[in-house]
Amino acid sequence: MDYAVRPARSALLESGKFPSTGGPAIFEDFDQIGGDCFRSGLISSHAGNISVRSGDSLIITRHGAMLGRLRPEDLVEASLDEEGEAKEASCELPTHRAVYSRTPARTILHTHPPHGIVLSLLGSRIVPLDVEGCHLVGEVPVLSAASPVGSLEMADIIAEALLEYRLCMLRGHGLFVRGETLSEAYCLTTAFEASARVSYLARVAGISTPSRECADGSTWAAPDGSPRPATPGNPEKPA
Ligand SMILES: [Zn+2]
Repeated sequence: MDYAVRPARSALLESGKFPSTGGPAIFEDFDQIGGDCFRSGLISSHAGNISVRSGDSLIITRHGAMLGRLRPEDLVEASLDEEGEAKEASCELPTHRAVYSRTPARTILHTHPPHGIVLSLLGSRIVPLDVEGCHLVGEVPVLSAASPVGSLEMADIIAEALLEYRLCMLRGHGLFVRGETLSEAYCLTTAFEASARVSYLARVAGISTPSRECADGSTWAAPDGSPRPATPGNPEKPA
């Protein structure tokens, strides 16, 4: 916890300076989730982005904002229209717009979970080895884009994937999660990274059979011969 930040944040909340971005309640949500993402090691200081659907528009973090130290002016309102201008918005605005246009997403959380990124370099999908990962997250597709930052190409493939899945990884870049609420998106994000860490550690420990499953997604074969657990494609509601 950065105690130098909290008093400043309180002062901003009391100032009432929330011109077009949903007021203090939305800012509180962004601030808490952004801070949690940074303190959890899911993003570096200026990485990641957060958005919520708001009627015919969306509210998204500003380009270059520090999610761990958000200020009210770091929230930017943009239309869902792909042609609409929003110069200060995150460079991933095209992806957020495409996901809101094509899926029932109400919130989107984009982070750079390190263990998940390592696993994304190894195959076309990430299948959990642990019970919590199987139960909460399920299989996560890994997507590739020639231009993996802020491009219309990645917007298109991520929106397509998030029609079927609630989470998807962009290879070597990061995780995109859609949710009903930011808390739900954060829950899925942390469960995914915790599961990816288990898979990574299994590889380091030389547990070869499950790690092969995670790498190439071919067949499940637990060391004791037990059957593959059910891994639904990102179940709609976490338990
Ligand atoms: Zn990113």
